[in-house]
Amino acid sequence: MTHAEPSRHSAPPDQQAFDRGSELARRLATVERRIEDACAAAGRSRAEVRLIVVTKFFPASDLALLAGLGVRDIGENRDQEASNKLDELPDHERDRLTVHFIGQLQSNKAGSVARYADVVHSVDRSKLVRGLDRAAGSAQRQLDVCVQVDLDPPSPGRGRGGVAPDQAAALADQVAGTEHLRLRGVMAVAPLGADPAPAFARLRAIADAIRADHPDATWISAGMSADLEEAVAHGATHLRVGSAILGSRPAFR
Ligand SMILES: *Cc1c(COP(=O)(O)O)cnc(C)c1O
Repeated sequence: MTHAEPSRHSAPPDQQAFDRGSELARRLATVERRIEDACAAAGRSRAEVRLIVVTKFFPASDLALLAGLGVRDIGENRDQEASNKLDELPDHERDRLTVHFIGQLQSNKAGSVARYADVVHSVDRSKLVRGLDRAAGSAQRQLDVCVQVDLDPPSPGRGRGGVAPDQAAALADQVAGTEHLRLRGVMAVAPLGADPAPAFARLRAIADAIRADHPDATWISAGMSADLEEAVAHGATHLRVGSAILGSRPAFR
């Protein structure tokens, strides 16, 4: 990464890193409190819920600061960006992180993702299952996988990824039948502009049905900055929180 020359008026780089570190620590503590409160309200133990800090669009220096704050799970959604950023980290920091790939994934990127990701949350079609299994085998790795379920109302323009709810169990069976992928559960994003609670309730029912056939598939990856409380209330085991910790992302997507 190239660092811009600090202007006469901006703080020196050490001070900037310190300020950013304090900001991240403060935001992380706020999110931690929200999770604790949500667990208490749901009568759940905090230990049942894992926080994944979504670092997409933010630089490797933020990953390093987060690692220093004790963050062990980070989420990324674009292959090129993720692999570049992870390469920038020193080995001792990189090795402490569990990397969750949470974005829509083209099959031709499976080979790359299988080399650095520990978990892929966004598996939503047969071809991707086959591609990831092959790639994990070549990389001599075992990948944890969640089946992403599309909770948006059916529409011609399904676009945010995910298998239709009535196809989720079949896809889960396929993952479970592979050699190099381990089925861990389900993942979803709440529908845009709708109450997330019924969507998360639906996801939980799908997760329960899959778990009946695959007892190890206990993960429910749901809940982001805006709806983590509803997700915890509906059994989420993994929260993917970005902007509440890192700040708002640049407007271009
Ligand atoms: C970006 C992203 C998140 C984090 O969203 P925030 O609203 O910033 O917390 C979670 N899940 C997925 C799939 C994402 O792409």
